[in-house]
Amino acid sequence: MKTKTFRYGIHPEERKHLSKDAPVIKIEAGEFVRIPLSQHIGAPAEAVVRPGDRVKAGTLVGKASAIVSANIFSSVSGEVVAVESGETITGGRCMHVVVKNDFEYAEERLEPLISPSREDIIKRAREAGIVGMGGAAFPFDVKLSVKNPIATLLINGSECEPYITADYRLMLEKAEGVLRGVRLVAAALGAAETVIGVEANKRDAYEALKKAAGDDVRVELLKTKYPQGGEKQLIYALTGKKVPAGKLPGDVGCIVTNAQTAYALYEAVDLGKPLYERVVTVSGLAVAKPGNYFVKTGMTFAELADAAGVCAQYVKAVQGGPMMGISMHSLRPSVTKSSGALLLLTEDEIRSIAPTPCINCARCASACPMSLMPMKIDALILKDMVNEAKAYHPELCIECGCCAYVCPAKRPLVQSQRLAKKLIRSAGAK
Ligand code: SF4
Ligand code: SF4
Repeated sequence: MKTKTFRYGIHPEERKHLSKDAPVIKIEAGEFVRIPLSQHIGAPAEAVVRPGDRVKAGTLVGKASAIVSANIFSSVSGEVVAVESGETITGGRCMHVVVKNDFEYAEERLEPLISPSREDIIKRAREAGIVGMGGAAFPFDVKLSVKNPIATLLINGSECEPYITADYRLMLEKAEGVLRGVRLVAAALGAAETVIGVEANKRDAYEALKKAAGDDVRVELLKTKYPQGGEKQLIYALTGKKVPAGKLPGDVGCIVTNAQTAYALYEAVDLGKPLYERVVTVSGLAVAKPGNYFVKTGMTFAELADAAGVCAQYVKAVQGGPMMGISMHSLRPSVTKSSGALLLLTEDEIRSIAPTPCINCARCASACPMSLMPMKIDALILKDMVNEAKAYHPELCIECGCCAYVCPAKRPLVQSQRLAKKLIRSAGAK
């Protein structure tokens, strides 16, 4: 069967075999959950509980404080014991609601919606605290609030990062729920057409979705290539449309979201369940039982590592995939709504070779899915030539890491692009 794709990109070692055959299993929370009030892009939620309050799983503990913000819910039943500052995944700090688990598993639900209108679905996405679960964590109600109906809704089922298999297992095991969520997203957007793209290395998930889909949803097989799940790359692969520089998918009539977000919307609308748990892949050669775990937000990554077991010395812990994930300084931070994976990587799995000077081989440019010249930006920014670097448009970089992956000199090219963006922004601000 012919698969669709985008131009350039890379084929990193997949390593999905470690966890792809592990069905999703639940990990129960321990004695405490520490729930961050900032799990999304935008303003942190404001705490609406105090120490001593009783809560259930699904009780609102943080209220969205601005248009771009999201409600936060307790993930266990028990007693609030603190509202205090705590560590985040990126090494910063934010306020957390700490709940002492009573292990009674009492739940609080919203009223399920019957035949919801477009407005009802968007309102429910806000009430239930749904955010983009593919990593961006953008409040979903804001994304759904388009002025005009859109032409094409694209569901990203590519999960193109190595190791991660959480969306794959969800699509395989809960195809009907994912499809129901996809239809709700399409209804909220007034989408004329809906397409789900699944990479060829997940053919059984593709078949499961295809079987569950009707005439209203098209399921397409995508070539296995990184970064197939990048918004612009997915739009090009599935529609042939190019999103112009500086424009958004909506400017070409498309909206992209991912399978797990659609599933969360199904649960919020049909079951009245707010978003406070998700599927997380725990993998890497240091993990004894790599797998896909249904995890409550507010549990620590250390608890995930304990549940999956650590069988070897790891030298790097990553939240998310190895290409675009965040290196964590400790496993103390809490799992959030957008935590797709915890990777515990051994020395053999990471690159620890020191960079050497560029040999002008142009491999980085050949791999870049945004058609940039990473080596030029790298060289100029190291010489502090910000204006000259600007001419090579580092602002278009999606930080996918393809350039650094192929570079024989092991140049830290993503960091250079990030630095260039930062310096150009601050020069503009001045
Ligand atoms: S320059 Fe940016 S977009 Fe291009 S390959 Fe490197 S990280 Fe990806
Ligand atoms: S791939 Fe590395 S060595 Fe080759 S041109 Fe790019 S930065 Fe230079």
